[in-house]
Amino acid sequence: MGAILGAGAAVCAVTWLAVRLAPFPDQAMAHYPASVVLTDRLGQPLRVWLGEGDIDCRPSYRPDPSHWVVQALVAAEDRRFWSHGGVDLRAVARALAQNVSAGRTVSGASTLSTQVIRLVEPRPRRWGAKAVEAFRALQMEQRYDKRTILAQYLNRAPFGGNIVGIEAASWRYFGKRPADLSLAEAALLAGVPQSPSRGRPDRHPGRAQKRQAYVLARMRACGYITPAQEAEALAQPVVARPSPYPFDAPHFTEWVGAGASVDAQGVVRTTLDPVWQQRAGEILRRHLRDGAVPGGAVVMLEVQTGAVRAMVGSPEYAAQPAGQVNGALAARSAGSTLKPFAYAMALDRGWLTPGSVLTDVPARFRDYDPQNFDPLFRGRVTVRDALVLSLNMPAIEVVRRVGQAPFYDTLKRLGLATLSRPAEQYGLGLVLGNGEVRLLDLANAYACLARGGVYAPVRVLEGDERAATGRRVFSQEACWILAEMLSGDERAMDTTGHAADVRLPRMAWKTGTSAGLRDAWAVAYNPDVVIGVWVGRPDGAGSDQLIGRTAATPIAWDLFRSLYPDNQSPWYERPAGVTARLTCAVSGRPPGSHCPPGAEDWSIERVTRCEPCAGHGNQTGQATNAAPLVAQAAGSLRILTPARDSTFRWMSDLEAGAQRVPLTVTGPEPGEPLHWFVNDRPVGVSRAGETLFWPLERGAHQIVCSTARGVSDRIRIVVE
Ligand SMILES: [Zn+2]
Repeated sequence: MGAILGAGAAVCAVTWLAVRLAPFPDQAMAHYPASVVLTDRLGQPLRVWLGEGDIDCRPSYRPDPSHWVVQALVAAEDRRFWSHGGVDLRAVARALAQNVSAGRTVSGASTLSTQVIRLVEPRPRRWGAKAVEAFRALQMEQRYDKRTILAQYLNRAPFGGNIVGIEAASWRYFGKRPADLSLAEAALLAGVPQSPSRGRPDRHPGRAQKRQAYVLARMRACGYITPAQEAEALAQPVVARPSPYPFDAPHFTEWVGAGASVDAQGVVRTTLDPVWQQRAGEILRRHLRDGAVPGGAVVMLEVQTGAVRAMVGSPEYAAQPAGQVNGALAARSAGSTLKPFAYAMALDRGWLTPGSVLTDVPARFRDYDPQNFDPLFRGRVTVRDALVLSLNMPAIEVVRRVGQAPFYDTLKRLGLATLSRPAEQYGLGLVLGNGEVRLLDLANAYACLARGGVYAPVRVLEGDERAATGRRVFSQEACWILAEMLSGDERAMDTTGHAADVRLPRMAWKTGTSAGLRDAWAVAYNPDVVIGVWVGRPDGAGSDQLIGRTAATPIAWDLFRSLYPDNQSPWYERPAGVTARLTCAVSGRPPGSHCPPGAEDWSIERVTRCEPCAGHGNQTGQATNAAPLVAQAAGSLRILTPARDSTFRWMSDLEAGAQRVPLTVTGPEPGEPLHWFVNDRPVGVSRAGETLFWPLERGAHQIVCSTARGVSDRIRIVVE
């Protein structure tokens, strides 16, 4: 007996020395073989990349004594855990007594603390090991609080197969977070780590249930649950079914990637919104179901934060061969989608308002002949019509005036990084879409407009505050005027021809179609959200299905409707710097006393130039731009658009209603009704200052405008 005591004392002394000399393994405690888990903004896993040795360990659980799983574990393993100092002396004394009377080891007296030491620092089960563990446990209790120690246990305990820790176990067996486990489920899982292979609840449900009953009995004995709760939990059928690893929003998770800033628990909490993501996928699939166009992508951004709330890179990720290609990140021809940025620049430079008149006539600018792109010219049009109808010539005129290089620089500042060639290689055609952009970047450039002119990079990590530092690209006033133009009621008619059929929450939107009909775009926004849609073939082939306003726009609209089912969407307040002013019906400028009154127009205070109309006999010195206006005598009537003897080309791939010419005149009395006839057939009545649109038809046409006073004008046009 004395020899045994002496040997025991020696062991203790050696162990004590070893523990003193070897510092506590804080580093080992901080390290987990962690998987990387990408979650949505609510913490729901989207994707799991397994850690070292293909272990599924998600050490993100924070124990809370109110969680069933914590109560179950403490009751089953170490009932005095919250009060002992790492070693449970009462349990040791009891175990010693039992072992001595039995003559062998029947009781271990291990605590959760000593088990943590064993999990952090596995060592061979030799005699003396227990003493080291006890010392380490005492050491650990000095350094860490109880919850941290419990977290160490719950995040390291084995739960069968490659499942390590309660977080992974809870998700894999029950598809929920540990805090949400029911009493019965928590008791079942708390019993597993003691024999993770033999007690695996999916492989050996019988054994696992026996262990669950034991855990529940311990919980009752500890006073955590009532006998009634115990009976209820026992009666519940609990089926642990290992779920496959999550695989949601695959394009998004691949893009954000396992390399994203992972926190200590291996969790990457992204900005993705599960509801938006699901809707985006559903609506995209529904619209592309007929298979005429195999590719498409949707991006949804939150305006204020720049957060990516949804990203669907293709209608079906699993579809071969191109389902895995992320259409939201593919560089494609921009079509007309960049035009609004040119108009915003021009608004900020002060020489343009929605009512300004631009020329839409064939012209040749140095090295670029835009006539090839859109043979449908409309004469003189307002800025509003030019933008809404996405006319090419006026857009080129705008870029020519703001400057091609500044326009290019602005697009770069808006994050359109895939415009990789030098500015001069794109030329004026940049505004018509001869450059390539990615849907995500395009949507984020529109987010700058939606945010009132402040650009910020997109954000994919929840809680990442970089977005707070934005930079101003456009004035709030210009963005407001632009949103007004892009959100007018007539826009819905523009697409469908039947405004009454279209119930839409208010939004600004722009479409685009790339040359050769390879890509169809639509971007829609309000103060809250930007929705970007691209539809096209992944192989880049053209298709007559691919026109922005018919292929992509309905998808954006449906998404908007799903966000605002009652049609009540927020809208912008007019900035104080935007003022209303009247215009001359013909020139679109501030009217002189002899001008026919036009519509109300928006201007930016102290920015918008206000040279009044120089035509109509207004005495303002040199009439710089008045050549076409002074030709008419007072009281006469002259058809201004379409231009006399002009020739239009019919585009077979546009739907009939989309090809219209505005019918405008100069010289009528204010408010005078104007009667229009095409080939002697009445086609409508307009008033001075209003624009009537006539859908083109093939053939030679005589267009007549006449008033009740008997004044009239007559022109001829040809539609080839
Ligand atoms: Zn005028």
